[in-house]
Amino acid sequence: MVFSSTYPFENTAELHAFMQREVERPEEYGRYGNPTVAATEAKLAALEAGEADGGGCGAVLMASGMAAITTTLLAMLRAGQHVIFTADVYRKTRLFARSYLAKFGVEFDIVAPTLEAIEGAVRDTTRIIFTEAPTNPYLRVVDLEGVVALAKARRIKTIIDATFATPINMRPLSLGVDLVIHSTTKYLGGHNDLLGGVVIGKSGLVDAIREQVGTLGAVCDPHNAYLLSRGLKTLALRVERHNHSALALARVLEAHPKVAKVWYPLLESHQDYGHARRLLRGGGGVISFEVEGLEAGTRLVDALRVPKLAPSLGGVESLVEQPALMSFYDQGPEGRAALGIREGLIRYAVGIEDLADLRADLESGLAAL
Ligand SMILES: *Cc1c(COP(=O)(O)O)cnc(C)c1O
Repeated sequence: MVFSSTYPFENTAELHAFMQREVERPEEYGRYGNPTVAATEAKLAALEAGEADGGGCGAVLMASGMAAITTTLLAMLRAGQHVIFTADVYRKTRLFARSYLAKFGVEFDIVAPTLEAIEGAVRDTTRIIFTEAPTNPYLRVVDLEGVVALAKARRIKTIIDATFATPINMRPLSLGVDLVIHSTTKYLGGHNDLLGGVVIGKSGLVDAIREQVGTLGAVCDPHNAYLLSRGLKTLALRVERHNHSALALARVLEAHPKVAKVWYPLLESHQDYGHARRLLRGGGGVISFEVEGLEAGTRLVDALRVPKLAPSLGGVESLVEQPALMSFYDQGPEGRAALGIREGLIRYAVGIEDLADLRADLESGLAAL
C-alpha cells in the first residue's frame, strides 16, 4: 500500500523524461494518481468489462459514489446541453441536478424509468441519459437495450448507476452502455467500512473524467482503495449469498398475510420482472415491502433482532429502515405521497447471515404485528 502524497524525482533529467511521458513512474502528486488506487481501478475495470485486461476499458475511483456521479456529470456537460434522468435515481443525484446543473445552465428532465418516457424527453441538445437499476426503493429495472439503441441512434451518451446490481448481477458495458457508476461503499466494498465511488467505461471517456478529478479534487484515499480491493476478493461469493437469501425472504414476505406488497426484481409480481429476468443474473440483496402503515412498520423494525436500523446496503450485515422515517423523512407525508413513498414501506438490505436465522427473525417480527 502506498500512502505518499508526493513522488520525488531522481534528478531533473528524470523530471524531463516524465514530462515528455518517456518513463513509467507514479504521477508526481497524489491528487493525480496513486499506485494502490491504480491497482484497484485495474481490478474494477477487469471485473466490469469481464476481460482480464479490461478490454479497452478503464476505471477511475473517487471519494464516494456521489463524487463519482457529480464529477462525471461536471466533466461531460456544458451550458445549453440537456440531460435525461430517470425518476428514481439516487435522491442526491436528483438534488445535484436541481441545485448545480440548473445553476450552470444545463437543462434536464426527470422522467419515469420507461423507454417511452425517456424517448419522449429527448431533445436535439440531449447529451446524456442517466439511469439507475435496480432503483431504490422500488427496484425498478429499465429496458436497458432499448435505452442504448435509442441513445446510439441519436449520439447520446448513456450512464447507469448500477450500485444495486454489481458487476456480478448485471453487465451494462456489454449491452453498449457508455459508463457504469458504482458506489463502492455498498456491495463492492461490502463491509460497511469505506466510502468510495467508481466510473468505468472506454478508456478515452474515463481518462477525460480522471483529468477532472485532479481539478475537482474528489480523490480516492489509498487506504480506502486497499480495503476495496480486499472486499472485491469475496464479491462473487457475497453477492451469490445476497441474491439467494433475498429471493428466499422476498417469497416468504409475499406469502405472508401481514404484508400488503413486496418489491423484488426477480419476483414474477414485480412490474419490471421481464426486464429484470433478461438483464439480471440475480436480484441483489435489497427487498422493499409494505405493512399496514407507519406504526406497524416501526413495530416490526424495532422487533427485528438480526438487521440493524441503519441506512445503506451491500454490506455483510443486514440493515433495515423505514424510508418514511429516514431517507424521505424531510419530505413530510404529502411530499412522500407525491413521490410514491408509502408510509408503511420497509426497506430490508439482506446481509450474508444464516438464512434460517434471518427468516425466523422476520417471521417472529411479523407475527407480533
Ligand atoms: C449510496 C448510493 C449512492 C451514493 O454513494 P455514496 O458512496 O454514499 O456517495 C449513489 N447511488 C446509489 C444507487 C446508492 O445506493
